[in-house]
Formats: sequence, structure tokens, C-alpha cells
Amino acid sequence: MRIKIIGGGSAGLYLAFLLKRRRPDYEIELFEQNQADTTFGFGIAFSERALEFLKRADPETYAAMAPSLENWSDGIIVLNGEPIRIDGIGYAGIGRLRLLEILQARAQAVGIVPRFGSRVETLEDFGDTDLIVGADGANSIVRKGRDFGTTLEHFTNRFAWYGTPKRFEALGHSFIETPQGHFNAHHHRHAPGMSTFVVEVNEATFNACGFARMSLEEAQAMCAKIFAGTLGGAPLISNNSIWRQFPKLSTQRWSSGNCVLIGDALHSAHFSIGSGTRLAMEDAIALANAILQHPSDLPAALIAYEAARKPVVEKLVQAANASAEWYEHFAEHMRSPPLDFAYSYITRSGRIDLERLRTTSPEFVAAYQARGSTKPRSQV
Ligand SMILES: Cc1cc2nc3c(=O)[nH]c(=O)nc-3n(C[C@H](O)[C@H](O)[C@H](O)COP(=O)(O)OP(=O)(O)OC[C@H]3O[C@@H](n4cnc5c(N)ncnc54)[C@H](O)[C@@H]3O)c2cc1C
Repeated sequence: MRIKIIGGGSAGLYLAFLLKRRRPDYEIELFEQNQADTTFGFGIAFSERALEFLKRADPETYAAMAPSLENWSDGIIVLNGEPIRIDGIGYAGIGRLRLLEILQARAQAVGIVPRFGSRVETLEDFGDTDLIVGADGANSIVRKGRDFGTTLEHFTNRFAWYGTPKRFEALGHSFIETPQGHFNAHHHRHAPGMSTFVVEVNEATFNACGFARMSLEEAQAMCAKIFAGTLGGAPLISNNSIWRQFPKLSTQRWSSGNCVLIGDALHSAHFSIGSGTRLAMEDAIALANAILQHPSDLPAALIAYEAARKPVVEKLVQAANASAEWYEHFAEHMRSPPLDFAYSYITRSGRIDLERLRTTSPEFVAAYQARGSTKPRSQV
């Protein structure tokens, strides 16, 4: 079988590894436009449950990642300087580059030699290929090159993905109202001395601050000033941290002819629920299993892949979109008192309710109910 994988992010690298490990006879080429040591962003987080899939499906890869994971058990919401702790929010953080290094090493150990620095511009040169896998992220050229029934919009908020040497002890979200507008930052540790710090603003704040007219350095300096208290004197670090709008992507078909999509090329899951990488790796597992189960019938493999994964992905993407919608209105939510705000935040994706919180976060529920209300205040 001749397979070409476009994109050496977590989806593409992991798929290459899974297939080559079981079928050394497959000819697998992986094209990555960047060099091995280049990536965008800083760290990512996996929820405790999100890593269960990997422990079960591939304990060796989990074991390779485990020493690089930063673990914590609580979440902290800070509303205009007032912290609210939410117990029982277990997460693990890892640097994006560190994860890629681990997956590169796993893939190389089974004989994959990624072609770094190779940007694929067209699929026309891949005529002799049995399967082309679009693992090339949100701006996938594979998706654009074939008819997958794609719908692509963008949320209106803007975000810029920074890092900082400030060591955060928990998964945190800071929400700040300033004369210039409303800001929030998602922050968590992804290495012993490094944290990821994603700044997000709504459109009104973006325009009021004039971010569109600022250089990268000016925007970085302004964000560092706004979040000076949160950062406790530590700087913000940029990795080409431009303002972006998060995509809302869906595809009616997951394959088209001999092309198939996985990961961010296929779907989007807003970063506020921290699931994009998990989805990408689970897609790779599902596609690898389907191919290995139907080695001489690729159309059947692609149908099996979509049938197995689509219902799971749709549920998660729905939760991610609900979470993104909450962030689209975060300025209005900030009018609520701190505990009501925190409750609204923690239940925003629709997957968690008060009953579940009683089990996972009893201390938070006790504090919330001590306010004499079991319901959040009316929101936007
Ligand atoms: C601000 C932010 C925070 C996030 N936080 C989290 C988090 O906490 N937890 C989490 O699980 N997820 C998080 N995510 C999502 C996560 O980063 C993605 O879901 C994940 O990277 C998807 O992996 P992928 O391999 O599908 O795509 P990508 O990581 O985008 O990889 C695609 C690869 O394809 C390459 N490529 C693209 N086009 C071509 C081409 N034409 N030729 C060759 N190579 C090409 C790219 O260089 C890239 O390396 C976050 C995303 C953002 C934006």
C-alpha cells in the first residue's frame, strides 16, 4: 500500500507511526512544510479523561509522554482579581514541540523518515498513490483540493497565543475588565518553567484597542501590561503570536476518492475545551484501525473510519462550539457575581451539570450553594 500523509503535526505523525508499526511493508511518505523543531503556539492541555484513550489504546506512547506531562487537579477562575477555585478539574499539560518530538521519535523508530521542509502545493503529483491523508491542519490543501462538503466560518473573538516563564500551579482563566475593554487569558503550565498564555478579546475590545493597527511587539506589550497582575512580573513570549479568529469547520464527507481527512483538517474544536490534539490522535487511531482491518479494500476502510468516529467527533465538536459561544459573550457573563460566573463558566459546554459537579467538585459546589442559590443567574 502506498500512502502519502500531508502534515507532520500530531495527527499525521501518529497515523504514520501506527500504520508502519503494524505494516512495515506499507510505503508511507510524510510531508511536513516546517522543520522538525518548528511549531506554532506553546503548550496544550489534556483533561484527565482525555488521556485515558491513550493509556488504553497505546500504553507505550503514553509512557513516552508521561515524564513530560505537568499535572494538576484544580481549576482557577479569576474574575477581576477575585480567584474562585474549582476542585477536581484534573488536567495534564505538555509543550506542543515536546509532543511533536515524542511522536517524531516514535515514527522514526518504526522506519518513517518525515520529509521536513516539504510543503505540498498540489495533489496532482500524487497520481500513483493508493491513499492521500490530509493531516495538514485547519488550512488543509487536501480539503481545499477535493469536495468534502466543507462549511467554514470563524468565531468573532480574537486570540493571540503567547508563552511565559511564569509557573502557574493550575489550569487558570483570568477575566479582566479595563477601560479599554474586556480581556481573558487561558493559562497553564506545560513544562516546569514554562506556561502557555492565550489572550482572547471580543471584537469591541479588539477595535477599541486598535490591535489591527499595532505591530506584534506593540500588541504583546499591551497584553503584558493588561495582565501584569496575572503574570506577576514575568514577561510574555511571542512565537509569531498574531491575532487570529478560531475556525468553525465541518465537512459532510470525511473522504473523497482516494483522499481522507484527519485532525484539524477535518474538524475544529475550540481550544477552550482543550480537545483538538486528543481528537487528532483518536482520528489517527480510528483510521489506522480501519485500514488495518480492511487492508485490501480501501473504500470499505474509509467508510468504517467515518462510521466509527463521526458520532464521537460530532458530540465533542458540539460541546466545543457551545463553549466557544460562551466565550463570544464572555463580557456579558462577567457582569455576574464571581461564583455565578464560575458556575456559568464550568457548565458552558453543556457536558457538566450541578449533579456531576457534586461528585467532581464538592468544595466548589458547597461554596456555590452557600450563596443561597443552586441556579446560575440569568445570563445573556
Ligand atoms: C490557542 C490554541 C490553544 C490550543 N490548546 C489546545 C489544548 O489545550 N489541548 C488540545 O488538545 N488542543 C489544543 N489546541 C488544538 C490543537 O493545537 C490542534 O487541534 C492540533 O494541533 C491538531 O493537530 P493536527 O495534526 O490535526 O494539525 P496541526 O497541529 O495544525 O498540524 C498540521 C501540520 O501540517 C503542516 N502542513 C500544513 N499544510 C501543509 C502543506 N501544504 N504541506 C506540508 N505540511 C503542511 C503544518 O505545518 C502542521 O505541522 C489549541 C489550538 C489553539 C489555536
